[in-house]
This record gives sequence, structure tokens and C-alpha cells, in this order.
Amino acid sequence: MEDCIFCKIANGELGTAMIYENEYVAAFKDLNPQAPIHILVVPKKHYENVLAVDENDNIIAKIYSAINKIAKQEGFYENGFRVINNCGKDAGQTVMHMHFHIIAGKTLGEKIV
Ligand code: AMP
Ligand code: ZN
Repeated sequence: MEDCIFCKIANGELGTAMIYENEYVAAFKDLNPQAPIHILVVPKKHYENVLAVDENDNIIAKIYSAINKIAKQEGFYENGFRVINNCGKDAGQTVMHMHFHIIAGKTLGEKIV
């Protein structure tokens, strides 16, 4: 995907500092943090959103495995955290490359669900 900012970040084209990275997944700080810790976890391959993930594809498991490692590495494994994925218009998805927000580092406020 040529003009996708998260493709460029995930594949190292912009020199973004990575919090975690492996063959399939990259994680970096959100530009506009909503909590003391706000990390985005994205696949290196372009998917528009979770609806683009085929049932035989294990990318979501790879993302959650990365989240587990990041939680240990960044020290919020014990206190807990929230993972958010926005999919499509009504959820307000603004970057059309699938990403999971990890929010942590404080007692989190109101939940929608
Ligand atoms: P969403 O509303 O779920 O699509 O979230 C997109 C998120 O990407 C927002 O929290 C933005 O702050 C974040 N974001 C947009 N551009 C960048 C960027 N270049 N680097 C890091 N985070 C970004
Ligand atoms: Zn992309």
C-alpha cells in the first residue's frame, strides 16, 4: 500500500522508534497519547481493518502475543491495561491500516462496554 502511513512506519521507512518488533508485527508510540502509556500494535502487512482478516490467518494471535510481550517489557503486565480496536466509520477509524491501541499506566476511566 503506497500511501499508507502505518505501512511506512511498520516497515521502517520513517525511522520511527519501535517499542517492539518481530517478523509480522510492529509496535510504536501513538502520536497523540490518551494515557501515560499509549502504544499502537500493527501488522507489517497491510490490512484495512479486522474485517480484512481471513479465518485461517493467525495475525490476530500474533498481535496479541506481541501485546503480552510488550506488557511484560514495558512493566504494565501486573497492573493491567486496555486494548482497543476501531473498525470503520462508526468507530471513528482514522488510519486505514489495522491497529490495536494499548492504553495503560493509570487507572482507566469509563468503559463503553
Ligand atoms: P484510530 O482512530 O483507531 O484510527 O486511531 C488512529 C491513531 O493513530 C490515533 O490515536 C492517532 O493519534 C495515531 N496516529 C496517527 N498518525 C500517527 C503517526 N504518524 N504515528 C503514531 N501515531 C499516529
Ligand atoms: Zn498499510
